[in-house]
Amino acid sequence: MPATKSNCLLAQGALLEPAIARAAEVIRAGGTVGVPTETVYGLAARADRDDAVAAIYRAKGRPDFNPLIVHVADRAQAARLAHLDAVAQILVDRFWPGPLTLVVPRRDDARLSAAVSAGLPTVALRCPAHPVMRALIAATGLPLAAPSANRSGAVSPTRAAHVVASLGDRVDLVLDGGDCAQGLESTIVAVRPDGGWTVLRPGPITHAEIAGLLGTDTEISARGGIEAPGQLASHYAPGKPVRLHADAPAADEFMIGFGPVAGHVTLSATGDPAEAAARLYACLHAAAAAAQPRVAIAGVPDIGIGEAINDRLRRSAA
Ligand code: AMP
Ligand code: MG
Repeated sequence: MPATKSNCLLAQGALLEPAIARAAEVIRAGGTVGVPTETVYGLAARADRDDAVAAIYRAKGRPDFNPLIVHVADRAQAARLAHLDAVAQILVDRFWPGPLTLVVPRRDDARLSAAVSAGLPTVALRCPAHPVMRALIAATGLPLAAPSANRSGAVSPTRAAHVVASLGDRVDLVLDGGDCAQGLESTIVAVRPDGGWTVLRPGPITHAEIAGLLGTDTEISARGGIEAPGQLASHYAPGKPVRLHADAPAADEFMIGFGPVAGHVTLSATGDPAEAAARLYACLHAAAAAAQPRVAIAGVPDIGIGEAINDRLRRSAA
């Protein structure tokens, strides 16, 4: 059954408060809510209950070895769930609330479903900046597990309509808070017991910004095992073959342009990497829906946020 408008609520202006109240009820009862964050739309459920967390995995068709990010209101709530050492504190002070996820040792007394960590001794924590997600966390008083609100392996959602199209009636309620400002999933940093750190997933906060604060990372990033399955090779896929670094489309290709390279749509006509990040998934959704059986994408410089954009583009083409 296709999703009806009735499971999508506007969560802006005067409608924010009643929408949050309704969503908080759904969450408390163990249900799932699609909710905007500054990165992408999340599929949220209470992180302290096994049945609620299981509902996320079921709705996404997500493999159960792929752990979830837990969203908190502030540092105090984070400190009840995990051990935040000096390095973690520095990152929290500088980047929270915002698009930075920390993988840190989980506390033994943390009231979290074991499934959010997929059996790992660590937990991924983020304190989001988006007012709708913040209001939902505050209204429930609970840590919220929330992966991106799409079927596993598909393109991430940056507007409510993407969530409805991907999950339909697999999600109990969707809050429409407009388009996501950043458009790329959070940067994930693992903080190691020895004081070291490593970027598990590039994102809006760049490697250079973190290194500027903490000094050089000590680990070679290719560690072999899948620690953050955003690292899975094929991810963010529009469901058709993708060709990267294209200068012009073939007759059967839908072209995504950038800067001077024109396309059927463009990441940014002016060649602005921040705009390209914000528009990336909307462009991939347009490519998925287009008549052409193939997709061609212009090159994006590999600097700053461009690193994270190219990480996602490589996976969309894998
Ligand atoms: P998403 O599905 O976009 O929310 O992605 C969540 C990401 O966080 C995935 O790449 C997970 O593998 C990663 N993640 C969550 N918890 C952990 C953890 N304890 N250790 C390493 N990575 C994690
Ligand atoms: Mg995802």
